Amino acid sequence: MIEHFHRPVTVRAALGLKRRFTTRAVFLAGGTFVNSNAFPLAPEHCISLAGLKLDRISRSRGGVAIGALCTLQQLIDDRKVPAPLRVAALQVVSRNVRNMATLGGHVASRLPNSDLVPTLVALGAKLALAGSARKVPVLDYVANARAGLITRILVPASGPGRVTACAHHRASANARSLVSAAVSLNPDRGRVRRPVIALGGVGGHVVRLTAVEKRLDGKPLPATDELQALVSRAVRPASDHVASAAFRRHQAGVVVARAFDAARGRKAGPS
Ligand SMILES: Cc1cc2nc3c(=O)[nH]c(=O)nc-3n(C[C@H](O)[C@H](O)[C@H](O)COP(=O)(O)OP(=O)(O)OC[C@H]3O[C@@H](n4cnc5c(N)ncnc54)[C@H](O)[C@@H]3O)c2cc1C
Repeated sequence: MIEHFHRPVTVRAALGLKRRFTTRAVFLAGGTFVNSNAFPLAPEHCISLAGLKLDRISRSRGGVAIGALCTLQQLIDDRKVPAPLRVAALQVVSRNVRNMATLGGHVASRLPNSDLVPTLVALGAKLALAGSARKVPVLDYVANARAGLITRILVPASGPGRVTACAHHRASANARSLVSAAVSLNPDRGRVRRPVIALGGVGGHVVRLTAVEKRLDGKPLPATDELQALVSRAVRPASDHVASAAFRRHQAGVVVARAFDAARGRKAGPS
């Protein structure tokens, strides 16, 4: 049970509190995960990040820097944010949740079926962590259960001709995504160059399908059913109370194929 609520006003003070109370403390951003029944910890100390002034978005030649405390709705409303990331944020259907949930909290939640992390991975986004000069790729953070206070999410400018798109499948309008994918590529006279395929909902965290990326690189995109089969064969989801492994595998292929269609400007096929 939370017994102590801390309101640091500097990143340094927030880090100091975390170092002092270690596993008895959690950072609090929008609180949509920390305050939910699904949150696995029972911390005594809550360290609010609200006073850290990490809610700005700035654009430079190199790309866009998004403060970790920016809400998902703020991303959607700000044209400085790359369009594919705004589309991905819109996949979180509840506006009430989007008004509270922050991008830093979203990444740190390491949701296996996140609607935004695949697009961050496809865009090559990195994280600035407090107290470290090194910028950490988003996938590295979510896959390796890295600790660390995220201060900014850095989305590099897309190179010339680079396109990025996402797609998802959910069982009902208000449900969370069962599987969620994002792809980026350079279309080149009917061929796919340097594809990135990121997929959520098929394991403990979002993954990159590097073997499929290699198969596609430099070649014309295969027919939809062939592409779907290629992706389905590359993933090993488990069955759970929401869906069987076979259904998740099938839908993984479908959403990746739809993301490729969207990236190439084609109308995506049915889910
Ligand atoms: C009703 C509901 C519907 C939802 N629907 C969707 C959906 O459709 N699609 C989807 O993808 N997600 C969905 N979500 C998940 C939601 O996106 C996440 O709960 C939210 O993004 C977490 O962000 P937050 O700011 O609320 O984090 P918090 O709950 O404040 O924190 C989450 C975790 O991150 C840590 N943390 C927070 N900020 C930082 C930081 N800057 N650095 C390091 N650690 C930090 C906290 O200590 C905690 O462990 C839904 C959630 C709810 C409650």
